[in-house]
Amino acid sequence: MVINYKKCPKCSSKNAIPIVYGLPSPELFEKAEAGKVKLGGCCVGENDPEIYCKDCEYEWDKEQAVDIAYQKIKGIKAFVGGYFGASYLVEIDLASRKVNWIHWEEGKQIATYQKTITIKTAESFIDQLKSAKLLEWKFKYEAPNVCDGTGWSVEIIREGRNLVKSGSNAFPNEWDAFCSIIGKVVNRKFK
Ligand SMILES: [Zn+2]
Repeated sequence: MVINYKKCPKCSSKNAIPIVYGLPSPELFEKAEAGKVKLGGCCVGENDPEIYCKDCEYEWDKEQAVDIAYQKIKGIKAFVGGYFGASYLVEIDLASRKVNWIHWEEGKQIATYQKTITIKTAESFIDQLKSAKLLEWKFKYEAPNVCDGTGWSVEIIREGRNLVKSGSNAFPNEWDAFCSIIGKVVNRKFK
């Protein structure tokens, strides 16, 4: 959803076109002449690139674009909680590897915890976020007709613009997996 497959991973140009494989039809030839597609040839391989940058001639596929999008994550700021009961905030900064955790009960701060995670943990954290499909979550999850309950937000700190995903009483499918990833990194409760 936020992964822009058509942005060149090498030069950041958006002047990119799809690469089409197989024997081209006359229409496809015309499109190729007009610079709207690139002909990839007749033979279709297993790891063929799917997108071609017209500015720098780099070629890539969607999987590579997904990896690059996750590598751009510099940190996470996650909150979960309700007006009643427990709330948690976790901040993870991957550059300094500093992790900050705050716990509230009934709106009152009752515990904080800080730690520095290892380089290995920071690296595997990105892979885990990818397995939780964080970048593919919708921006808003809402359950109608519930006034109080559980709210959450995840701010994704990136190079450039940050992204905020949030919800109230409704969650992405990977929410439990995400909470256990966060809980493990900080070694404290998050949920
Ligand atoms: Zn390029």
